[in-house]
Amino acid sequence: MAYAAVLAPPAMQDALRQPDKWNSEWEALIKTVERVSASDLLNSAAIQLAMDPEGMDWAFMEYQNLIARLCHVQAWLTLDASLYFARDDLEAKWLSATPDLRGKHLLIGLSNACSIAKNLHDARLYCGRELKLARLRGDGRVLLDLVRSVMVEGALEVPKEPRYVPHSAWDAVSEAQKRATPTDAEKLTLGRILVLRTKLICHVLHFTIRSFVGEELPEVTVSKNRKKKGTETFPSQTFAAAFMEQTLGPDGARAAVKDNKDALKDRKSKRKEHCSYTGCVKANNGDEKYPRCKKCWDQMQRDVPYCSVECQRADWKLYHKTICGKPLTFDAVSKPVLAPKTPPAPAVGPPVGGFKRSNLLALHITALTHLPKADYIIMGAEDTSVTIDLPDPEAQALFRKFREKAMTTGDKQSVATMAHFLCWMSIADPKLAARKDPTSNAIVSQMKKEYGFDELHLAVAEMQNRQNRDPLRRPVLLFSMSPQNWVKFCKGMNVNSQVVLD
Ligand SMILES: [Zn+2]
Ligand SMILES: [Zn+2]
Repeated sequence: MAYAAVLAPPAMQDALRQPDKWNSEWEALIKTVERVSASDLLNSAAIQLAMDPEGMDWAFMEYQNLIARLCHVQAWLTLDASLYFARDDLEAKWLSATPDLRGKHLLIGLSNACSIAKNLHDARLYCGRELKLARLRGDGRVLLDLVRSVMVEGALEVPKEPRYVPHSAWDAVSEAQKRATPTDAEKLTLGRILVLRTKLICHVLHFTIRSFVGEELPEVTVSKNRKKKGTETFPSQTFAAAFMEQTLGPDGARAAVKDNKDALKDRKSKRKEHCSYTGCVKANNGDEKYPRCKKCWDQMQRDVPYCSVECQRADWKLYHKTICGKPLTFDAVSKPVLAPKTPPAPAVGPPVGGFKRSNLLALHITALTHLPKADYIIMGAEDTSVTIDLPDPEAQALFRKFREKAMTTGDKQSVATMAHFLCWMSIADPKLAARKDPTSNAIVSQMKKEYGFDELHLAVAEMQNRQNRDPLRRPVLLFSMSPQNWVKFCKGMNVNSQVVLD
């Protein structure tokens, strides 16, 4: 039974071109899918896998890659969602938004997430009601529950295993398979569906909440995989072409086939080659080619590129020696391979004296622990956060003394001293001032939330007065700096800058 043809998904390239039309086509298809059982969908996927000329080896590699990527996406989504819950009141704002507003961001999320890769786009078939726009926009709790169901323990920590989104029909198929004695191909077919549907849901959530809080959409790159020449025609494309001819007529079908080909060419041109060592995953920018493992290529036509000899050696020790040049099995690829990491020492001590940290402050401390060079982080999304790293060792030591006190006890004087110093630096230091980011208002607004200190702007104004009264014009944080060092420190700075807050 060729469901591949009957359940032909809408053209992927329409997701961004005509999101409304594309989405209606999907919704209509999903209605049809509701009448198809999960095990029939599984059979259809098994047929596609069997017809795939790229073969099982390629599918195994893809599967392993998908699991590892899913773990990373979940860590990234966890970090962003924790920040938006703590900083932007995501929960309250999402719940009180109108369905139309939620729908607008959901459609951005759906169409962008489905434009990442064809396998993700087509995985919408396996999500059924979960990604139905009307359901997600109507009741705000649905999306929030989904976000919480895929958030992993400990922000910034890549999990060892992904968290799958539960689904009664797929879970039943999964249980049934466990009771039988499935072949590797059967395990792979189901495993691929489960990982792809969870990955798509995670991307949709990630894009949607980023769009909703006004951050830039995350940039996701897709791996390029070189393969032997002469394996290009895909039998299901012949099916799809035949199906299109029935529905669109010969001219319409020809135009649609051409459109699909152009879109594929465009997607291929954006793919990047990634280093295979999980501790690196560096991507090259297209022109250069990474050298690959010769044995894997010669014996298995398996593409395993490395950016450097060091990465190849590290991966060999970690994992590659177990699979090099050998046929893969489901068990060999069903666990993500993670490069070993020793947990970093905490940047700040535990809270004392009954001080209760806000979620935002706890998140900030986790981030500082992973970025030991950073002195303070004004948090935005990954690409818009500003990390403050004080180059002067004495200023840094003083800053960190105040930071430790503020972050372990919540001491208001220390918070205000730090806040004023950061605001003042952002305008007095010409390098920071030229960037215009972060603004004093952004710094103070984050710190108000971190320490639950609503009157912080008044305390900062008082710190500015104290600086103005100092004959050397030192900010309060640097009061104990020797005059000689202060002269060195403030060379080239606009010492008379005044912190003014809205
Ligand atoms: Zn590398
Ligand atoms: Zn190899």
